[in-house]
Amino acid sequence: MDLTQYVTTVENWPKEGISFKDITTIMDNGPAFKYAVDKIVEFAKEVGADIIVGPEARGFIIGCPVAYALEIGFAPVRKEGKLPREVVRVEYGLEYGQDVLTMHKDAMKPGQKVLIVDDLLATGGTVDATIQLIEKLGGVVAGCAFIIELKELNGRDKIGNYPVKTLIEY
Ligand code: 5GP
Repeated sequence: MDLTQYVTTVENWPKEGISFKDITTIMDNGPAFKYAVDKIVEFAKEVGADIIVGPEARGFIIGCPVAYALEIGFAPVRKEGKLPREVVRVEYGLEYGQDVLTMHKDAMKPGQKVLIVDDLLATGGTVDATIQLIEKLGGVVAGCAFIIELKELNGRDKIGNYPVKTLIEY
């Protein structure tokens, strides 16, 4: 299946000069959504993931059905102040200023093999912070999977040698 036909590009959103890739038009198409999730499930099997980690909010939408299909757990990465119990936190750079991502301290057991799932890889800041959170918790990053990769932003440089799977590249 050619998934690109289900991605909608929205120019100048959320601000001038940004060409936003909207994946809701993959999600609202049953066969396209299933195809995307199945491809990531295959990759999760290849890398031997035993837990899925996804950043809010679109990482939940893609990561949860992957975890469900494999009968493994899902642990959320959230902005500061959203998780109710003790967290580990990592600050990461945004275009303007800093933001913080957190995970629950007991989100995984040390040594668990983690697949990070998100909808899109841009600069790699989000995945970089997510890798740091997982490593603080003693998890082992088994790989990273995205529906879309924006190649010119070189997000892969932040991922280093971890295996990466992307379904669509721009
Ligand atoms: P990065 O941290 O790699 O620069 O940006 C990736 C994060 O921002 C992902 O969590 C992703 O959901 C969001 N993001 C950035 N640009 C886009 C876009 O064009 N489309 C979508 N769907 N998400 C984006």
